[in-house]
Amino acid sequence: MKKGCYDRYSEERLKNAINVKSCIREAMGNYLRNNGFTEISPVIISPETDPLHHSTGKAGFEYYKGRYQLTKSMILHKQISLLALDKVFVFSPNVRLEPVELADTGKHLVEFTQLDLEVAGATRDDILTIVEELVTHVLNHVKDKCKEELDYFDRELNIPKPPFEKIKYHHAYNKYGRIFEEVLSHEKQQPFWIIDFPSDEREFYDREDPSRPGILMDMDLIYPEGFGEALSGGEREFDPKRIVGRMNEQELELEEFKLYLEFAEKGLPSSAGFGIGLERMTRFVCGLNDIKDTCLFPKMPGTIGL
Ligand code: ASP
Ligand code: MG
Repeated sequence: MKKGCYDRYSEERLKNAINVKSCIREAMGNYLRNNGFTEISPVIISPETDPLHHSTGKAGFEYYKGRYQLTKSMILHKQISLLALDKVFVFSPNVRLEPVELADTGKHLVEFTQLDLEVAGATRDDILTIVEELVTHVLNHVKDKCKEELDYFDRELNIPKPPFEKIKYHHAYNKYGRIFEEVLSHEKQQPFWIIDFPSDEREFYDREDPSRPGILMDMDLIYPEGFGEALSGGEREFDPKRIVGRMNEQELELEEFKLYLEFAEKGLPSSAGFGIGLERMTRFVCGLNDIKDTCLFPKMPGTIGL
């Protein structure tokens, strides 16, 4: 056992961070249930999952004549769930085999939980409002309930004022280049939006604006003080022709999305939603450098953890 591995379990630091994470989860669940959302169960294994547009390896196993994958995000299942329910959320464990280069960013885990949410018939603007209200509600709740923990971390939580600033991707990119998120996150004092990503930057399911080809109706929320990305989300493609077109543009194997495409052919509702990482939010709330401190059993890129 590595030195310190055992000792970290008796440190105040871990206990306080886990208490804050539990409080964030409670506030999110209560807020959403009080606002007409239904909590659905997480999907852990499925033959089809989010392809993710970055360097995330595939995790899965053979089972009888098929293959299961571990969920990278529940996006496909969220869209299909809306055939049964109008407003859904789930605390969804995600497994993303991140490369070892991301081990020291302080914000990447191989296993994490996100609050994933989707609303039938919603626009991106509807979702921005939901997020702004949800985030301010959660921060107020934590400030009220976790005084001792915040004191321990010497963290003064400022409650942001909606509406949050919106910055277009191409403005940010033209000004700061590839590292715009990092630069802006350090510069800003309250959470802000990056909107309108170019379609080749994101997954096939974020909806292309019909009046602006190549630009998506999507967004990231970025924390201030250098804490970086909080969430990604957007309006969704639901027209099967457009879905297949976007999959082809990204050179995805249609066969890998066979069951999802059957649902799309039969008709998926229009929708919008997002996924917000619980550990990243806890890191921000507690003002921690290392996301590892938000987990009892952290799985860091490039190492094997319990
Ligand atoms: N697919 C996003 C993610 O997990 C979340 C979303 O768009 O709902 O990164
Ligand atoms: Mg993202």
